[in-house]
Amino acid sequence: MIIDCHGHYTTAPAELQKYRDSQIAGLKDPAQRPEPANLRISDDQIRESLEGAQLKFQRERGTDLTIFSPRASAMAHHIGNEVTSLNWSRACNDLIQRVCALYPANFVGVCQLPQSPGVPPSNSAAELERCVRELGFIGCNLNPDPSGGHWTSPPLTDRHWYPLYEKMVELDVPAMVHVSSSCNANFHATGAHYINADTTAFMQFLTADLFKDFPTLRFIIPHGGGAVPYHWGRYRGLAQDMKRPPLAELVLNNVFFDTCVYHLPGIELLFKVVPIDNILFGSEMVGAVRGIDPQSGHYYDDTKRYLDALQLNDANRRKVFEGNALRVYPRLKNHL
Ligand SMILES: [Zn+2]
Repeated sequence: MIIDCHGHYTTAPAELQKYRDSQIAGLKDPAQRPEPANLRISDDQIRESLEGAQLKFQRERGTDLTIFSPRASAMAHHIGNEVTSLNWSRACNDLIQRVCALYPANFVGVCQLPQSPGVPPSNSAAELERCVRELGFIGCNLNPDPSGGHWTSPPLTDRHWYPLYEKMVELDVPAMVHVSSSCNANFHATGAHYINADTTAFMQFLTADLFKDFPTLRFIIPHGGGAVPYHWGRYRGLAQDMKRPPLAELVLNNVFFDTCVYHLPGIELLFKVVPIDNILFGSEMVGAVRGIDPQSGHYYDDTKRYLDALQLNDANRRKVFEGNALRVYPRLKNHL
């Protein structure tokens, strides 16, 4: 079985964006504020939005199941206030649940959290619990920077985040560390802000004792871990200089990397540096980079091709495509 741990509903019907647009307009003019019931999307529209995109690519690329969440760049936690974010998150999560109900063999849900700058993360716990217990979701996307590129929240290792971690541990669900759009002109969203955040989260985990406090807490750092694999020696050396334990002991029971790296040399490096038990197959299709690489003639985000080129032995293939995902997302087994 081939499980893609990283997919977003980037092709949702236009009604979802219209709902969002009126929600944003409603921040200035309450008369335009939409009721959640105003968001009407039919099952056929959902089918149509997926058949020519994610489902087509699953078939063409030979993958089976995608761990599926709302479009990350649209989470935009910096817009509006706590209520804006809660209503938007619920609308997006409910739509993911409908996708998973229509195609239970192809998708399993991961939720967007209703975060907001300056609002305690404990306030996101109720929506996480609803998504896991009522909608059958198996994890969440956690935005370490709800301000959208200004980094106004404490580091992920700060006690600020602990109440949400307590809920994650109670529910036995991991979080993918995933920022959203950037409203800082210095940082292109998918080209810089995403990769910066991946790298930043790893360095935060390295400097504190978060995983002593939460030995079973699990994070997936997407996009191949940002700059981390390339600079593994730097992080090992920094840990050593700071008299921290070796990286393997410090973070590798709790931190995992996906394979959303869009060329073979990058994937080769990832597998050379990061232990096989810490790598989960992911593609982020249809997502950040949608084109075809003229050098290979294949989609950049067809990451299974790069993994196939590594010619892993059967045991390692099984880990990366299935076994590691089942360990990191224990609730996944209820869906297989
Ligand atoms: Zn993503």
